[in-house]
Amino acid sequence: MEKVLLVRYTEIHLKGLNRPYFERALISNMKRALHGLDPKIEREQGRIYVRGISEERFDEALDRLTRVFGIHSISPAEAVDKDWETVVQAALKLMEKRLSSPDAGTSFKVFARRSDKRYFMNSDTINKELGGRVLERFPELHVDVHKPEIKLSVEIREKAYIYCEEIPGAKGMPTGTAGAASLLISGGIDSPVAGYMMAKRGLTLSAVHFYSYPYTSERARDKVVELTKLVSRYAGEIKLFLVPFTDIQMTIYEKCPEKETTVLMRRLMMKIAERIARGEGAMALITGESLGQVASQTLEALCVTNDAVSMPVFRPLIGFDKDEIMDIARRIGTYETSILPYEDCCTVFVPKHPVTKPKLDELRASEARVDFSEMIEKAIADTEIMLIK
Ligand code: ATP
Ligand code: MG
Repeated sequence: MEKVLLVRYTEIHLKGLNRPYFERALISNMKRALHGLDPKIEREQGRIYVRGISEERFDEALDRLTRVFGIHSISPAEAVDKDWETVVQAALKLMEKRLSSPDAGTSFKVFARRSDKRYFMNSDTINKELGGRVLERFPELHVDVHKPEIKLSVEIREKAYIYCEEIPGAKGMPTGTAGAASLLISGGIDSPVAGYMMAKRGLTLSAVHFYSYPYTSERARDKVVELTKLVSRYAGEIKLFLVPFTDIQMTIYEKCPEKETTVLMRRLMMKIAERIARGEGAMALITGESLGQVASQTLEALCVTNDAVSMPVFRPLIGFDKDEIMDIARRIGTYETSILPYEDCCTVFVPKHPVTKPKLDELRASEARVDFSEMIEKAIADTEIMLIK
């Protein structure tokens, strides 16, 4: 008997001729996620099988795979010889284990699939025979063909695979199959969620963070590094650019109208992020903005921000309520880190009365009155790069 992880994948089947490309990307992401666990990964008839994981690390492997995008669901399965009595005994053992949990239920159904057409029983017969043996052994159970609480699956292939659990995967598309984009990451709740959502659509991420020593602390920066790490559990390796922003921010603060400072700051962040993104081969920027959430996220403000760059800006949270964003943050495990209280550079310099309907001409004019070009070059030159795995 051998423990195997049976992996089903998502929308990839829609991709026609590109399908092998998506499958290869998924397998390579799975290999990366299972690094150090010596997996043997094989693709077969629309499924991926992970073998060779040691018993002690089997649950860890399963847990890691639940964060790989492109996976629809995972079933921990027992692989045994196709000899019928062996199959029955393995199935009964699995049912026994399942029934030892108090909420296992009392109804079941057998789902047989026979890929090996030479096997001496067809699916219907397997269903009936195995169902009978289960009832004989566990008389307290009954068969429910419509809504069974326990689904006992048997697949007859080159071996027999038996399982009764289906654990949901992270869904989405394999990371790396949709190109690359740069995430503007702050220490807040929203941007890590935004990064997660776009990686889920197949984008490879790099990340750009602006900090303002000494107005923001070392710990605020550590927090961003930690958040990037948490996102990388899903998105894979992320190159994080830490950009010193104090000079630019102080200059905006001293030389520009106070009510415009936030939007001007956002424009300069976007410009620098776009430069970094280009250098990385990224074709879009990602932010955690949501319409109307704060003064700098009105439609007018977003238009003024967009005007600073020519790359598309993805805002996957644009139509989400804060509650909905917080739910995702909790689910993906970034929330607890995001709410740590360290100051962000945006919160240090908040104007008392920010413009909520900035006018593009006015903002452009305010920005043009100051020559930021040297400061931008210096910020980029002094940027620190970290590879987050
Ligand atoms: P978040 O929860 O992501 O901080 P927010 O609701 O606090 O978002 P803002 O502070 O206005 O909103 O920031 C909007 C977006 O701008 C962020 O989601 C992020 O993408 C980007 N951003 C803000 N501050 C920074 C920063 N210091 N470095 C990089 N990007 C930033
Ligand atoms: Mg913020």
